[in-house]
Amino acid sequence: MNNISILGKDCCGCTACEQICPKNCIAFKENNEGFMYPVIDESVCVNCGACVKHCPVLNPLFAQRTPTVYAAKYRDSRATAESTSGGIFIPIAQSTLDNGGIVYGCSYDENLVARHISVENKNELFKLQGSKYVQSDISKIYSRIKADLDSDRYVLFSGTGCQVAGLRSFLGREYEKLTTVDIVCHGVPSPKLFAKYLDYLGKKYGEPVKYYNFRSKKRHGWGLFYELETDKKSKGGNGFDDPYYNAFLNGKTYREGCYNCRFANCNRQGDITLADFWGIEYINPKFYSKNGVSLVLINTAKGNRLWKSLENCIDSTESTLEQAVKMNKNLSAPSSRPDCRNCIYDGIDGNFDEYVTQKLYVKPDLKRKIKAVLPVSFKGKIKHMLKK
Ligand SMILES: Cc1cc2nc3c(=O)[nH]c(=O)nc-3n(C[C@H](O)[C@H](O)[C@H](O)COP(=O)(O)OP(=O)(O)OC[C@H]3O[C@@H](n4cnc5c(N)ncnc54)[C@H](O)[C@@H]3O)c2cc1C
Repeated sequence: MNNISILGKDCCGCTACEQICPKNCIAFKENNEGFMYPVIDESVCVNCGACVKHCPVLNPLFAQRTPTVYAAKYRDSRATAESTSGGIFIPIAQSTLDNGGIVYGCSYDENLVARHISVENKNELFKLQGSKYVQSDISKIYSRIKADLDSDRYVLFSGTGCQVAGLRSFLGREYEKLTTVDIVCHGVPSPKLFAKYLDYLGKKYGEPVKYYNFRSKKRHGWGLFYELETDKKSKGGNGFDDPYYNAFLNGKTYREGCYNCRFANCNRQGDITLADFWGIEYINPKFYSKNGVSLVLINTAKGNRLWKSLENCIDSTESTLEQAVKMNKNLSAPSSRPDCRNCIYDGIDGNFDEYVTQKLYVKPDLKRKIKAVLPVSFKGKIKHMLKK
């Protein structure tokens, strides 16, 4: 068999195969966990092998890249407050728009479904800000990007490593006007699980959830804090106390392929890689900011040119790959697959209240709660004393 069926559960869901198929015989269908996988209409398939050739998991394109590493903060503190880490994505996107380009990234739709969209206006960039901890629907975006590039437009694409790899495999060649930004990624839960969880929260609060921010800085600054809103209520807290978020942070609900991710290493897919610079308070306390610090990996000459053009709006300090990897596990290996992953999605279609209690239940953890409210400087001192 010379088609994508050979991939099985290692599929990352990028949809490159569907978009490249000359016979249009591949469609992505939801499995019982709520992840999308390719299904082939064998009666139409001619076994041309295009889907296998352009699959980023079966045929990953790796160039040996040694990144330059920075800790960085966007100087616009209001914009950074709405971003996940140091807000670096925004000036990168703005520079593309300044060149008359188009920016592709992940946004929530009106039902809080994460989808990749295009943005051509600076006033709409806010839609792409913030990490959505769920697999984003990439739809037919790669074909649209190819059309933009073929009509000589500048394009910025941002997404997880596998989504950037999918785009590169789909295009099959380099384009000077394409810049890619990949984010360091733990793994992604299923859109169905997130939708059901939002529905559950809506029932719990008596009205639909209209806003869910996984990385809100509103109450406690930069960290793993969520904020949700209904029409009348708002609630925020530590991500570890929220059942869906806790399961995500503990790696219980990821797509199967994420535990075997080919892109969780330092040989990155994007021209630029963005992440949180966890641990900056210990490495370089003066550079720490409660508003967030980004880890930036400049992987290519193109990425470097763009980076240098942002000098006037970014504060940065050079770091090392060693330090970056120490604090960011997914830069060296995929997340570990816990045993409970075998049955974490069992029961998702039944009584969801019971599902939350039985599968996503969070045990109260007093030690963590105390740790979360201690100031960073105090935590640094304790860590320093313990090291002695
Ligand atoms: C699922 C997921 C897992 C992550 N895991 C890690 C990790 O292990 N370690 C770490 O340091 N950082 C991780 N990050 C990245 C980090 O949280 C920030 O996105 C990154 O630091 C960029 O932040 P920023 O402040 O520059 O900009 P932001 O404004 O936060 O940038 C948002 C960018 O993220 C993209 N994005 C948001 N949600 C998704 C999504 N669901 N799928 C694809 N792209 C998305 C947008 O397109 C946009 O480009 C993860 C992000 C996601 C979405």
